Amino acid sequence: MAMGISEIETSFICDDNLGKLAKLLRAYGYDVLFYRNISDGDLIAKALADNRHIITRDGKLQSKGAPKDKLTLIPMDNPDYQVKFVLEKLKLKPDKNKWLTRCIDCNATLIEISKEDYIDIIPPYVYQTLNEFSRCPKCGKLFWKGTHYQNIIKRLSTLIPNGN
Ligand SMILES: [Zn+2]
Repeated sequence: MAMGISEIETSFICDDNLGKLAKLLRAYGYDVLFYRNISDGDLIAKALADNRHIITRDGKLQSKGAPKDKLTLIPMDNPDYQVKFVLEKLKLKPDKNKWLTRCIDCNATLIEISKEDYIDIIPPYVYQTLNEFSRCPKCGKLFWKGTHYQNIIKRLSTLIPNGN
């Protein structure tokens, strides 16, 4: 069976210019590491150790030891165009079942919770009208499938290039 990159590589590391792109890829459910301050050497070492694909704005990274087939150079600044570029270039097909199952700030996989346990912090209207809640095990942030959720899902749909 022929394997595209979408089957093999779903984990990434973004350089420190690509914070917004990292969050968007996490929203699609991909495992994406991103550090505000990381040296080129540490970024490459981390990528190799975890078998992560490097996504970078820095054309010089390759000459510093990043393997060519494990690196995607992003040629533009706009995060929406960046995510379209990555999805198209790496032939990624984001699995809708995984959308918004990961904390976009921490990269941790969200855990389903019972709303009864968080009645003190969930806004009353949300508590009354919704039943599916989840929580980030790292930062503790709560998530629910309200209007904000639906808007993000719509946005994620529009960013997928035709043909993916
Ligand atoms: Zn979090």
